[in-house]
Amino acid sequence: MNKEPKTLQEAIVYFSSRDNCRDYLIARRWPNGVVCPTCGGASVTAQPKYNRWQCASHHERRQFTLKTGTIFEDSPIGLDKWLAVMWLVVNCKNGISSYEISRAVGVTQKSGWFMSHRVRLALGMESSEKLSGHVEADETYIGGKARNMHRTKLAKRVAEFATPRTGRNQNIGKVAVMGLLERHGQIRTMIVPDTKRRSLQGGVTKHVEAGATVYTDALRSYNDLDREYIHKVINHAEKYVDGQIHTNGVENFWSLLKRTLGGTYVSVEPFHLFRYLDEQSYRFNNRTLTDGQRFDIASRAIVGKRLTFAQVTGKAESQPG
Ligand SMILES: [Zn+2]
Repeated sequence: MNKEPKTLQEAIVYFSSRDNCRDYLIARRWPNGVVCPTCGGASVTAQPKYNRWQCASHHERRQFTLKTGTIFEDSPIGLDKWLAVMWLVVNCKNGISSYEISRAVGVTQKSGWFMSHRVRLALGMESSEKLSGHVEADETYIGGKARNMHRTKLAKRVAEFATPRTGRNQNIGKVAVMGLLERHGQIRTMIVPDTKRRSLQGGVTKHVEAGATVYTDALRSYNDLDREYIHKVINHAEKYVDGQIHTNGVENFWSLLKRTLGGTYVSVEPFHLFRYLDEQSYRFNNRTLTDGQRFDIASRAIVGKRLTFAQVTGKAESQPG
C-alpha cells in the first residue's frame, strides 16, 4: 500500500488510484477481512472484474461493492471524487460550497450539493459521552434576515412566528440553536424549538454530567440549573468576563459557525441547518488533529448511513449551499 495522504495535494494524487481508494477504505471498514454487509458472513468471493464481491450464502443482495451500505451507495460518482470531496468538507475550516465542489472535482452543482450533504451525514456522530468539568452553555438564533426574504416566504414565516401579544417576532425566520462546550474539550450543538426553560435545561441535562460547573448568561431559562449543577452566571448587561465566569468559548464557536454559514453557504434552509451544525462541530471537536487524521475518522463513519436525494430535499425546497 502506498503511503496514506497527509495533505490535500497528496490526497488528490493518492485517491486518483482505484486501488488506493479500495485499500484505504477496506483497511477501515473490514480490518479483519471483507464480510457481507447483508448477512455478516465472511465467506465471500472477490470478483475484481466487476469491482465487487459475492457472498457464499444465498440471499438477496449477495453481490456488493465497497459503496454498499455506505453514504456512497448507488452513486455513479467514483470514489476518487467522493474521497476528494470528503477531504475538502472535513478539512476546510469555513466549509466548502456546492459550487466550489462542482468546480474542484468536476461534477454538477446539484451533485456537489448532494455529495456534501451525504458527507455531513457521516459527520453527524451522536456521542453518548456526557460533558463534564467546566461547561459553557449558550443559545443563539441563526437564519435568514427578513429583509432578504421573498415576500410570500416572509408572509409564511410571519404567520409561523406570530405571537399573540405582538403579532410579530424579531426572530422571524430564525432557528434557535443551543451549544454546550466543555472547556478545552468537545462541543455539542442542537436545534431547539425555542429558548424557554424546558428546551434549554433539557439540553443541559441530556449532555452534561450532574455536578459539573455550568456557565451561562443571565437568561432566566437557566434559573433552575443549580439543582443539579454548580451554576455560574455572567450578566452581560454588566460585563462579559468575570474571572472564570464567561461563555466566550461557545460564543467563539457561534461566530465561526455564522461566518461559515454566511460566507460559504450564503443561504441555508432551517430544514438543513442541523447538518451544517454537525459539519462545523465535527471540525471543531477534531480541531487538534491533522487533516489526515480528521479524514481518517470520517472515513470510518461512512458505513450504515444512507441518504437519498428525496430525504435530503424533503418537503423543503432545496437551496444551493
Ligand atoms: Zn451474505
